[in-house]
Amino acid sequence: MAVQRLLADGGRAVVSLAPSFPAAIGRAEPGQLVSALRRLGFAAVEETVSVLPEVVRRRGELLAGAGGPVIGTSCPVIVRLVRREFPALVSRLAEMVSPMIWHAAELKERYGQDTAVVFISPCPAKRAEARGGPVDYALTFKDLLGWLREAGVEAAALPPRSFDVVPPDWARLSVLVSRVSGVSQSRALLRSLVEGLVEDQGPEFLELLACPGGCLSGPGMGVSLPVAVRRQRVMDFVTDSRGPER
Ligand code: SF4
Repeated sequence: MAVQRLLADGGRAVVSLAPSFPAAIGRAEPGQLVSALRRLGFAAVEETVSVLPEVVRRRGELLAGAGGPVIGTSCPVIVRLVRREFPALVSRLAEMVSPMIWHAAELKERYGQDTAVVFISPCPAKRAEARGGPVDYALTFKDLLGWLREAGVEAAALPPRSFDVVPPDWARLSVLVSRVSGVSQSRALLRSLVEGLVEDQGPEFLELLACPGGCLSGPGMGVSLPVAVRRQRVMDFVTDSRGPER
């Protein structure tokens, strides 16, 4: 992978880790994944949801000025669906970048524009979204697990280490919140918006997610655990996150 070559050549890179990561790391603890990423050569490891407080503030501003529902832009498959099949709703897409882009731009500001930002998530569709923006490389958890295996790094055997920035617990739980998920359910809701059926509910932020059950079911997750277990792993992380000192 290009990012491997960058690190091997002495380049500087930092990680933005999507909130579903506790479900993707097998026996390792979250802090051990941080150590493993450092072992691969990353200069810093942060959680994408670190920007959630700012993202939520922006959503509030958008809703305050909206005459109806606002459609979130976190899921690139949903954004594409709206653009392709529901042109009447394009103006309803939130005028804001996704948390991935938001966090990457912030990382560039803090670590330097010449520092590569590597976003790691369960979502192959993020690769296309990343093109031309502040994310230099978008990997899936499947990619990362393969890289760790290839490099002989056993995350579960490493001492845990803290993230460089610790977000609030509610932000870490955001991956468990999804009102509507799955393409067919999302399409049905979008159709009802076009037909004016949910307009009277007033301003509401609709974060539609294309994978059934949301990002925990993303195709790049790299594990075969049932979704209920994946959810539990995220819950456990938040419960235990008052964990190791750096
Ligand atoms: S719901 Fe699926 S397609 Fe959408 S952002 Fe999450 S992993 Fe990607």
